[in-house]
Amino acid sequence: MVKVDRLYETFQPSRYELSIDPNKNTMRFKGSVTIHGKVKSQATSVRLHAKKLAITSVTVNDIVQNFKVIPEKDELKIDLKNISKTQITIIVHFKGFITKPMHGLYPCFTQDGSIILATQFESHHAREVFPCIDEPEAKAIFSLTLASPKNEIVLSNTEAASITHKGETTHTTFYDTPLMSTYLLAFVIGDLHATNGTTKNGTKVSVWSSKDHSKKNLAFALDTAVKVTEFFNEYFDTPYPLTKCDHVALPDFSSGAMENWGLITYREVCLLVDEATTSASTKEYVATVIAHELSHQWFGNLVTMKWWDDLWLNESFATLMEYIAVDALYPEWDIMLSFASQEALSAFWRDCLPGVQAVKTHVNHPDEISTLFDPSIVYAKGARLLLMAHDYVGKANFKKGLRHYFEQYAYGNTTGDDLWSSLEIVSGKKVKSFMNKWIEQPGFPLLMVNQKDLKLSLKQNRFSDTSKKDTPEIWPIPLGIKPKNKSIELFNKPSGSIKLEKPDFLRLNSGGLHYSVRYENPEHRAYLKSLIKSGKLNPSERLFLLNDTLMQARTGHGSIIETLDLLDALSMERMEPVWGVMSLCMSDARTLAEDDDLAEQKMKSFAWKLAKYNYDILGWQKNDDESLNDTKLRGIILGMSTYSEEPSVIKAALREYHRYKKIENIPADTRHIILSAAVRHGDMKIFDDLIALYPTITNADLRQDVCNAITGTRNLTQAKESFKLLKKPDFVRLQDFDRWVIFYLRNRKTRKVMWSWLTSNWGWITKNFGDDKSYDLYPRHAGRIFATNEWLDKYNDFFLPMKKEISLKRNIEIGVQEITSRIKWRKRDTKKLETWNITD
Ligand SMILES: [Zn+2]
Repeated sequence: MVKVDRLYETFQPSRYELSIDPNKNTMRFKGSVTIHGKVKSQATSVRLHAKKLAITSVTVNDIVQNFKVIPEKDELKIDLKNISKTQITIIVHFKGFITKPMHGLYPCFTQDGSIILATQFESHHAREVFPCIDEPEAKAIFSLTLASPKNEIVLSNTEAASITHKGETTHTTFYDTPLMSTYLLAFVIGDLHATNGTTKNGTKVSVWSSKDHSKKNLAFALDTAVKVTEFFNEYFDTPYPLTKCDHVALPDFSSGAMENWGLITYREVCLLVDEATTSASTKEYVATVIAHELSHQWFGNLVTMKWWDDLWLNESFATLMEYIAVDALYPEWDIMLSFASQEALSAFWRDCLPGVQAVKTHVNHPDEISTLFDPSIVYAKGARLLLMAHDYVGKANFKKGLRHYFEQYAYGNTTGDDLWSSLEIVSGKKVKSFMNKWIEQPGFPLLMVNQKDLKLSLKQNRFSDTSKKDTPEIWPIPLGIKPKNKSIELFNKPSGSIKLEKPDFLRLNSGGLHYSVRYENPEHRAYLKSLIKSGKLNPSERLFLLNDTLMQARTGHGSIIETLDLLDALSMERMEPVWGVMSLCMSDARTLAEDDDLAEQKMKSFAWKLAKYNYDILGWQKNDDESLNDTKLRGIILGMSTYSEEPSVIKAALREYHRYKKIENIPADTRHIILSAAVRHGDMKIFDDLIALYPTITNADLRQDVCNAITGTRNLTQAKESFKLLKKPDFVRLQDFDRWVIFYLRNRKTRKVMWSWLTSNWGWITKNFGDDKSYDLYPRHAGRIFATNEWLDKYNDFFLPMKKEISLKRNIEIGVQEITSRIKWRKRDTKKLETWNITD
């Protein structure tokens, strides 16, 4: 593996004076940067990061210097001729491109054809806009001046300090930023409008969008942003350090959102809420994204990881805090249960694969950084582990520890151990040795539990396929025993037994921590099932028990029949997060039944049996006084019911579709189900109508639903026709392209034709997404979908030669593992589905 040098070791910049003059007509920009800093004594040259920039002149301490661009290293090497001081000032003039891929400086296109310029510098794209030391540790102060067309809005991290006009051009100079990393610098220029508010202690908060959207769609975000900022001011006991915070919805955006300090940028669907057409789940999602990005203003921006190895310090933390903040502000949403059903399960499913990365992963090359942003590991699993640390030291100590951490390290850089030592100082507990085992080891333990009378035998192994016997890894496992028996805090051995005080069957891991429990005694399992049936387990326990059963089925520790039996016991379940896992179980059972008519028919009947109870209660229409749980649950129940193809359900779905004159009027919470059913079971014309509608839709939530419906078609001719539109920017925005591909791949009927389209258009994908964080998404998703030998061959033929690309390697390897393990599962369990009997 190529190792890149850390340029910060030889040159430490302290201040940048940066000036950028972009031109939307030529899609180019020119700029200059003055960098003050300290160079290692006796250095004969200094290296900066620079990528795809044309360098026109360089001086150091006013002396013209020779320089060399090294494109394969993204470096600009500058001679230090006649420089004796270590304190130097480098001035570079340069030119660059505004490029369509959504990083560096890039254009966003509004519906009315105007262009908004925006930046995306994380993880290492600042170097595409100006020469700098583009490493998180290289914190400096930035003074930015931007040229822009008169009358356009110009935003950056801080407020404008001076604005001057010259003809049709405006020059805006912003106040100095605090000491910060290059990846957090940002600016936006365009025709935008905003709604404004202020926090209790005077921070100005504004939410911006293009004029495609009404200002009233910014109200929910503003309200949430103000409240969340106030919440974190209190929770971290460290005030938000800037005078303002802008939140900007961009029409084109690669990921979900980006936490640039004081100028947070978002994908429109992550910030805008039209109360009339946005679903309850999307609204909840918007609140969590805002909270996530705001928590980064402290965790990430104020205190930053030293190097990308500790990216989890940013992302795991922000993921946990998004739930803690939203739970405090909107307690009625019961969001911690969603945390369990979404983040924890996403983490488990990924983390059980051999070859998966640990939360803390060694990074050599910048191209590896993009593969670190694995949502299931560095976000979801990391957040689960931090919750474990939170429970281990206790809520009050956790808060106290964070305050200590911010006091100690504000405006500096840290590693994970710095966080653990802050928690150790306030709690007196050995947090570091406990947590590092979980953070640094990939995977998680399977705890085998064998309880007979007063003896509880325990054994731990890394959770994986049964083909592997005993594994060497050991985790310190908090047992979380219910009902209370002998108190045992951590189980820290490969195996052992405990003498109990009472003989009653126990439940372990009652808090749903990051490990799986296998109850080896069948009587023990039957007992737990009886507790579910009699309603004696709380929702989180039901959810994790079901999840454990499914994961064990996948890996051969149990079977799909155990999972289906447990599902059967849950047919009167009313909690939406539990149903989230139930529908996951069903979707796995469906994969097992693929291409086996008998098994598939059985799964459809079973789906209807499961859904019917709630279908009768909830129906298709929302009641004015219903709970948020019911509103969200309806979506899952209708989804499962339409999958069953029960004639009365399909008839009702089509009736609902025709009830509304315009697609926009279909209620947002059931819209995706109604549209999908209409495409599959209704008139062929519906597909064409949706295709015509799609590019005209400004509401991103609606646009997603329409895309999902179209890509669910069973008509190959229509699907293939639509492929011709996918590369047209006036049809699909670059940011939405992957959704089309992935959803067409998920659809069994269109999988083959989409795969052949994808493979023959790979060059175009590389050109547009090759440097982007989303590039590895294709091998990742294909790995999640494919389930047969034939597909494994196709996957191998296409992706294996690409393993030499650092940014794809890990996901290709995991993809192969995932497909292989699914094939094995089908071999074990598909026949069992055929002979399994649905009870009445
Ligand atoms: Zn984040």
